[in-house]
Amino acid sequence: MARGGALRRAVRRAHDRDHRRLPPLLLAPHLPAEAGAAVRARVRGTSAAQKGPLWWAAHHRAHHKFSDTERDIHSPKRGFWWSHVGWILCDKYNKTDSDAIKDFTKYPELVWLDKHDWVAPWALGFACFFIAGWSGLIIGFFLSTVLLWHGTFTINSIAHVWGRRVYETSDTSRNNALLAVITGGEGWHNNHHRYPWSARQGFRWWQVDVTYYVLRVFAWLGVVHDLRPVPAEVRAEARRLPPGV
Ligand SMILES: [Zn+2]
Ligand SMILES: [Zn+2]
Repeated sequence: MARGGALRRAVRRAHDRDHRRLPPLLLAPHLPAEAGAAVRARVRGTSAAQKGPLWWAAHHRAHHKFSDTERDIHSPKRGFWWSHVGWILCDKYNKTDSDAIKDFTKYPELVWLDKHDWVAPWALGFACFFIAGWSGLIIGFFLSTVLLWHGTFTINSIAHVWGRRVYETSDTSRNNALLAVITGGEGWHNNHHRYPWSARQGFRWWQVDVTYYVLRVFAWLGVVHDLRPVPAEVRAEARRLPPGV
């Protein structure tokens, strides 16, 4: 009985925590978390070999600020392949705009990881090789990294071209169930552009959002906190928009 009561209280505490604020931005590095777990999460994120966490965060903020305008670096209006891989391979955009992420640059481990963004991918590559030899390196590191690249990039390209719009945002973002499955929830991109302050991107129970489910478990365990929910009025705004809106 005592254990059951403690469990219920823990669940209630996690539930209450979830109804407080989460800072506006969605990439894992910004999640308030216990120190050790936070550093591990950031190192794992950087092992995706998609440049540094601060670099990503700064560009992602710019994407939300200037979505599908001339200042949006990876808008598909500049070409589908450009939005998918062209922009990230372009040396012109290698610099991290520290002014855009002053709230993140106060974390020294993030600054270090961003500056040495090659360390985590190389460490993962070596670990794969030592654990499983060449097949470990090729499948465990190279193949998984390339698949992850394209999964991530589909959100900048396909999620702004194909799918359904339910919010009349000023950009071309769409909800795409297939992309949501591939990317663990990011495919509900029209939702996300409407209310990017929430850790949740699937606003309805049937909108699969695996990343959010994991965050809920982490919140329950006390690893992350202050997950911001989607306001009921934002959810209620959703309606099927005619093509071209
Ligand atoms: Zn977008
Ligand atoms: Zn976003």
